[in-house]
This record gives sequence, C-alpha cells and structure tokens, in this order.
Amino acid sequence: MLTIHNLHTTVADKPILTGLSLTVNAGEVHAIMGPNGAGKSTLAYTLAGRPGYEVTEGSVSFEGEDLLALDPHERAARGLFLGFQYPVEIPGVSNLLFLRTALNAQRKLRGEAEASGAEFMKLIKTEAEALGLSMDMLKRPVNVGFSGGEKKRNEAVQLAMLGTKLAVLDETDSGLDIDALRVVADGINRFRSPARAVLLITHYQRLLDYVRPDFVHVLMGGRIVESGGPDLALRLEAQGYERHAA
Ligand code: ADP
Ligand code: MG
Ligand code: MG
Repeated sequence: MLTIHNLHTTVADKPILTGLSLTVNAGEVHAIMGPNGAGKSTLAYTLAGRPGYEVTEGSVSFEGEDLLALDPHERAARGLFLGFQYPVEIPGVSNLLFLRTALNAQRKLRGEAEASGAEFMKLIKTEAEALGLSMDMLKRPVNVGFSGGEKKRNEAVQLAMLGTKLAVLDETDSGLDIDALRVVADGINRFRSPARAVLLITHYQRLLDYVRPDFVHVLMGGRIVESGGPDLALRLEAQGYERHAA
C-alpha cells in the first residue's frame, strides 16, 4: 500500500528526514516510536503534503501511485487520512455539514456520485452510533467545547466516514486519560481491516497495550534505525531510546 524509499525532507532549509525507508502493506498496523525531535511529525506532514515540508530526495508510492506528485486534497481523496495530536476546532461549522462536505468533495474527486442527504444520514448514524457519538454532538460545531475524548470519538467518525485506506495518526494518544485512550483504541481497532492500514506515531508504549501493532519501528535522527514486533515497544519503554543514540 505504502512504500517509502530513502525519503529526505527539509523544513525551513533544515534537513529533518535523512533517508527514511518503510513499507506498509494493507491490513498492517505499524507503530513509529521515537524521541522528541526525531522527525515523527515531519514524516506525517510529508505524507500529507503539508506546505513547507520539502522532499529533496527519495520516493513515496501509495497504491502504486507517486504520492509526492499529488496535492494534499488529492492524497486525502485517495484514502490518506492524517489525524492530529490536537484536533482543530471549527466554530460555526457543524460536524454534520463538515463531514458531508468533506465526503462529497472526496467523492467528486474520485468521480463518484455525491451522497444524498438520506444516504449521508444513514452512513453517519451507523458510524456515530458504533463509536458512541450522539446526534446532539454531530449537530454542534466541529470540536468546539469537546472534551479530549469527544474530539477523539469525532476523529474516529471522520476516519470511518471518509473512505480512509491509510490512517496516519500522529501522537493521537498524547494527553489523554485512560477512558479517552480506550476510545482512541476502539476507533483504531474498529478501523482495522485487511484492506486498510495504520501508521501509529507515538512517543509512549501505553496505546500499544490496546492496539497491538504488527510492526514497531524506531525513528531517530530522521530515519528508521530499528524494526521489530510488539516486543520492541516494551523494550523501548523499559530501556529508553538512549542506546540507539549514535
Ligand atoms: P517529532 O514529531 O519526532 O517530535 P518533528 O518532526 O516535530 O519531531 O521535528 C523534527 C525536527 O524538525 C525538530 O528538530 C524540530 O525542531 C524541527 N522542525 C519541525 N518543524 C519545524 C519548522 N516548521 N521549522 C523549523 N524546524 C522545524
Ligand atoms: Mg514532538
Ligand atoms: Mg511530533
């Protein structure tokens, strides 16, 4: 699904990613762990196509297509979803309007028919119910006044609604209490399927108690310095990242 080869990204003329390679197949959950400043968010932003994150070398293919040649909205329409550490609040725009607009914009880009009001409401009701978001919450402005857990429920609904194939979740677990952490984990586990994949970027092992990754990678100094199974995350938690420091 995703093949990153020798990726170099520069931010404000500073090299941050320095030859990162990673392959993610459909059905897999990959955890990316690493200390602060390692380049984890830079990887997420590079994949999403955020302006200012300049790729100077390497390649990224997403389902056989050159991802780097696509605009951010085209990447989203192909099924790439970037989850934020701190979800954005959008005063004056209801969740319902936001989701329907996003869904139909993506369908249009894919050359698909837009969802009718009835189709959309059926879809949103199913997902919101499964993820514990009430109709009252859906009518409120996006994330305005939502608790940490509610924002994460909302994000899980977005993830499910927008035809996501690859979810890139950047420290989606940071600052959450245990209940909100469970909400995040439920959302991810519900999202998991043979046709989808997750890049779970996290500083801490904690979330991985609830979402068991297929692979764990250590990102340091702008590249993957070690890869392993779920046990690698436990070892990192016990030993820290220092022993990787060159
Ligand atoms: P992580 O998410 O692993 O903590 P980041 O990708 O956020 O790491 O940052 C990696 C490095 O890039 C850090 O040294 C950080 O200071 C730098 N960096 C990130 N964003 C910017 C920016 N917009 N301007 C300048 N430097 C940046
Ligand atoms: Mg950081
Ligand atoms: Mg970060």
